[in-house]
Amino acid sequence: MSITDLTSMGEPQVELKKEINDRLSKLQDEVSDYCYQCAKCTSGCEAHKLLELEPHKIVALLKQGLIDEMVNSDIIWTCMSCFKCRERCPQKIAPVEILFALKNLAVAGGKQVPGKYTSVLQSVLSIGLIQDAQSVTTKDMKTKTRDDLGLPPLSKPDDPAKFQAGLMKIAVEKV
Ligand code: SF4
Ligand code: SF4
Repeated sequence: MSITDLTSMGEPQVELKKEINDRLSKLQDEVSDYCYQCAKCTSGCEAHKLLELEPHKIVALLKQGLIDEMVNSDIIWTCMSCFKCRERCPQKIAPVEILFALKNLAVAGGKQVPGKYTSVLQSVLSIGLIQDAQSVTTKDMKTKTRDDLGLPPLSKPDDPAKFQAGLMKIAVEKV
């Protein structure tokens, strides 16, 4: 069942709506109430093309205070964090930040996090990158590493323990 199918059953969660809008204000983004549903965010959304995420609907549901419906939906995990929606919004609203807040609420509520997220987090914790440098295959089917291409090594945290502690501190911040 899609998010919009669930809305007719929902009760608004006013306090959670306020928390998310407060987060947007702190980040110098505008609150969801200023959204006029132009869908410019959705028309440029990379996840919309592949996975049917519609950021303008996420903002509309937040305006209505229907937070639980989104927190319980798999669709919030399809955002690729490309930030295009934030760049494109004429009202300076950031659907991507709303999605971050919803994902944090899902984790805080003990919802199952998709497996790929866990492996990305493990990689960030261990090497400071979402994945280590990969080799590429050229048009003539030769495999090339960064070194082969004359690229410098990727920079990684000098002090992994300190880096992990800092990251975990950020991760447990509320919403
Ligand atoms: S681009 Fe901005 S104003 Fe337009 S629908 Fe998206 S969030 Fe709302
Ligand atoms: S940040 Fe997420 S919601 Fe925004 S445009 Fe990119 S994929 Fe879509």
